[in-house]
Amino acid sequence: MKEDTPEIHQFSVSLSTLDGPKNETIGRVRIQYFSNHERAIRGIKYGGLCLLLAAGFILIPLLHFILVPLTALASPFVGVLFSRQKSVLVGGIGDCPVCSKGFLITKSIIPFPVTQTCKSCSGRVRVDFKV
Ligand SMILES: [Zn+2]
Repeated sequence: MKEDTPEIHQFSVSLSTLDGPKNETIGRVRIQYFSNHERAIRGIKYGGLCLLLAAGFILIPLLHFILVPLTALASPFVGVLFSRQKSVLVGGIGDCPVCSKGFLITKSIIPFPVTQTCKSCSGRVRVDFKV
C-alpha cells in the first residue's frame, strides 16, 4: 500500500511565557505522523546521508582522519534515531504571549513542550499541548 499524502494532524496548543510575567495564548500546530514504512525509509535516507558526508570528508586534508571515521560510525545511530521518530512538528501559528504579535512556530522534533524564540520581541515561548 502506497500513501502519497503524509498523515498530518492539527492540534490546539498553548503558548506561554518562560520569562517575566505569566501569560498564555492559544495557537495551532500541524504534526506529521510517520507509518512504519516511512520511518524505515527515513532511517535509511538519513543514515545514508551520513555515509555520503563521511565520503565527502575524505577530501579535507588532516581533518579527514577524525571526520571520516566519526561520521561513518555515527551513520547507523543516525539511521536508528530517524527510524524511531514517530512524528515531527511541521509548524504552526499563534500569538506571542509576550508581545501579542503573530508567532510562527517553526519545525521541531517532538515530544512537547518545545521552547522557541519570538522573531518580533526575542522572548522565549514555551509551546505545549493544551490541557
Ligand atoms: Zn513576541
